[in-house]
Amino acid sequence: MSNINKKRKTFYNLVGALIILGTLITAYNFIDLDQVIESEPVTPEEMITSESLKYGFDEQLYTVEDHVLFPNQFLADILMGYDIPLPKIFELENKAKDVFSVRNIRAGKKYAIVRSDSCSAAEYFVYEPDPFRYVVYDLRDSVDVQIVEREVTTSVETTAGIVQSSLWLSMKEQGLSPMLIEKMEDALAWSIDFYHIQDGDRYKLMFERKYIEGDPVGIGRLLGAYYKNSDNEYYAVYFENDEYSGFYDLEGRPTKKGFLKSPVKASRISSSFNMNRLHPILKRRKPHLGTDYAAPYGTPILAVGNGVVTKAGYTKGNGKYVKIKHDKTYSTQYLHMQRFAAGIKPGVHVKQGQVIGHVGSTGLATGPHVCFRFWKNGRQVNHLKENFPPPEPMPKEQLPEFFETRDHIIEQLDHVHFKDESQISENQPETTVIKLRS
Ligand SMILES: [Zn+2]
Repeated sequence: MSNINKKRKTFYNLVGALIILGTLITAYNFIDLDQVIESEPVTPEEMITSESLKYGFDEQLYTVEDHVLFPNQFLADILMGYDIPLPKIFELENKAKDVFSVRNIRAGKKYAIVRSDSCSAAEYFVYEPDPFRYVVYDLRDSVDVQIVEREVTTSVETTAGIVQSSLWLSMKEQGLSPMLIEKMEDALAWSIDFYHIQDGDRYKLMFERKYIEGDPVGIGRLLGAYYKNSDNEYYAVYFENDEYSGFYDLEGRPTKKGFLKSPVKASRISSSFNMNRLHPILKRRKPHLGTDYAAPYGTPILAVGNGVVTKAGYTKGNGKYVKIKHDKTYSTQYLHMQRFAAGIKPGVHVKQGQVIGHVGSTGLATGPHVCFRFWKNGRQVNHLKENFPPPEPMPKEQLPEFFETRDHIIEQLDHVHFKDESQISENQPETTVIKLRS
């Protein structure tokens, strides 16, 4: 609870910060990031992440040589080339074991040699496993190894675009990462059919981008999305509460529809999702990747969400079964049916709560039940443990807080403007850009 509140407070601070940022963005078409992030006097501890230093070394005092590790290039070979004797290299390998073993050094990664002048022996070897941290191997008298985590800063940014030929192309032309495209599709998937979008559709996004020393290293959360097609306009607002962290529409209803908790009414769970179950018929340990709901023969089985039937067939194990694809991420499967409901076959659209079949014991089953299987990105998961949006709108008492967040986000999105369509076709970047140094 307190954790959620803390998170929410951070979120509000962020929303506050972005208003300042948003004002800056509106004021200038292009802003150098250095102007946005205010520089303050640094303490010695902070010096290590300061931009004037390289891996914490003042380049006025040290020579820092950058390299990329080749395949089959060994640390010992590198260091011997810089006058480090073999016994010292062994000592280093030994001391590094518990901090960052030299065995984890990989080809293709960056490393640096640091020394007082370009003639002396190496004093430090620096290895960079990823943009978030680097390892300093101190090669002076007493060998020492340290991992330095780099400071990640997050800025809130906005973008807008008009779809031409394809959404992916339009967003890629703006240098937007595929991850951001996926997040937008995810936020609006239940309102918009992204397989059938049209030229001239418009979108605006508000999102977090992460930086290390001024360089973009990744996308954080999508905070707000706007999409307008010929039918309508849609908004998705990111909000966190105790039940669910995700996207809501302007009235505070989750943008995604949740799933029914179980596919049979008035049933009981006769066997839970269990990675280590003794199979009742096969009499051996076999993971049970579903949840069994026991119910009398003939009880209606309901689709837990809207979707398209991908399978309605028979196998020896499953008996008569149906599989439904709900969206890009989720599918569900219903086994051991006595019979399918009329019209249930592959390609048919079904609605949440629609009867798709009747409880039976076909296939490997000891008695009448539905073995319900939940697929997420092609893997079976325990649906009772997933973070699904609640089927109901959020509680009324949370609405004022939600509306506050919503209004901040909409205000920001409203400030983002589209370029003329004639200009867009010339393949220019979008209206609001924070100029990034490459
Ligand atoms: Zn089962």
